[in-house]
Amino acid sequence: MDKIIFPYRLNNEYYTKVKIFGDEFIEFSQKFNFKNDEEALEALCIGVYWYLYGTTALDLNSNIHQALANLAEYRIAFPEDKIFIDELRGKLLTKFLFKPFEKNHEKLTKENLSLLINFLEATGDYIDQIPHLKNFTHDLNDCITLTKWFCENSRNYLGEYTSNLEKYLENNGSNHLMEEDVIFYHGHELEYHLNMLGAEIMNRIFKDEYDSRTRKAIILPSCMNSNNKKCKAKEDRLGHVCTFCNPKCNVYKITKEYPQYEVYIISHESTAFKGAKKEDKNELGILGVTCVLNLISGGWKSSNLSIPPQCVLLNHVACRSHWLKEDIYGEISEEELNLKI
Ligand code: SF4
Repeated sequence: MDKIIFPYRLNNEYYTKVKIFGDEFIEFSQKFNFKNDEEALEALCIGVYWYLYGTTALDLNSNIHQALANLAEYRIAFPEDKIFIDELRGKLLTKFLFKPFEKNHEKLTKENLSLLINFLEATGDYIDQIPHLKNFTHDLNDCITLTKWFCENSRNYLGEYTSNLEKYLENNGSNHLMEEDVIFYHGHELEYHLNMLGAEIMNRIFKDEYDSRTRKAIILPSCMNSNNKKCKAKEDRLGHVCTFCNPKCNVYKITKEYPQYEVYIISHESTAFKGAKKEDKNELGILGVTCVLNLISGGWKSSNLSIPPQCVLLNHVACRSHWLKEDIYGEISEEELNLKI
């Protein structure tokens, strides 16, 4: 098999570096009198999304926004129609939203933030971020200053983990055009770095609340089972549960290693926690494992449901549905999992 080029890949030093970057971010953001670190993260998200997508957002026709936002909602409400809806979304997203990066010279005003939120809503990829962006009341100029600092510094700490991203996208040039994940798949390096830093900040924000929960669940993506098609995991309210059919499987190992915790396999982030009940919202803390571009949305999805999250990153992407020609086994840092749980 050819050597696989990944859009990102972590090594043993990653968690040390992202912690240092997290410390520097918190220190720098204290200049702006944010209510708390979560508001600082919201400000950074707004600034980065504005930098990357502002030009396209200002150009987006309101009817196209509405049509795509409705389709994104419809897809969640009626997963059985996914194939038909995704075909339509893929065409509209590629025609109207997928544009080459163009530097944005417009000022970030309240009105422009609303247009940016419309763009994000239309993509369907930022559903869990949107409530945070809509409720943001801090000075928007600070989002820009924070983003400039982030753009100047993120590569120093995180650039080595995304050094193959350009090559990866070049090799897969026309991939995912006309597909519903076209915007997600072509994510800019800054979005990778934003998610990495975002996960580190969220881990700090939610740590105490997570520790106080009486039940803990480890949420694993389906690329971590080594026997994907033949997996015999059984469906349960919060996800699929391993039935121990294959001792070589990563999910098998983690489930055996942490018998005191619930372990669930989730096939897609959008379906996570669908079956959560009131008792889960009161008792549960989750440790989620996911690939980089899902980190912020996964963290806020969980915290929006009042379930405090912690997260560990997949060391690289592993699935065929978005990233690779064939499924490979997802891996994580076991040391980090042990520390976080
Ligand atoms: S060991 Fe568990 S997760 Fe792995 S393939 Fe079997 S049932 Fe699925």
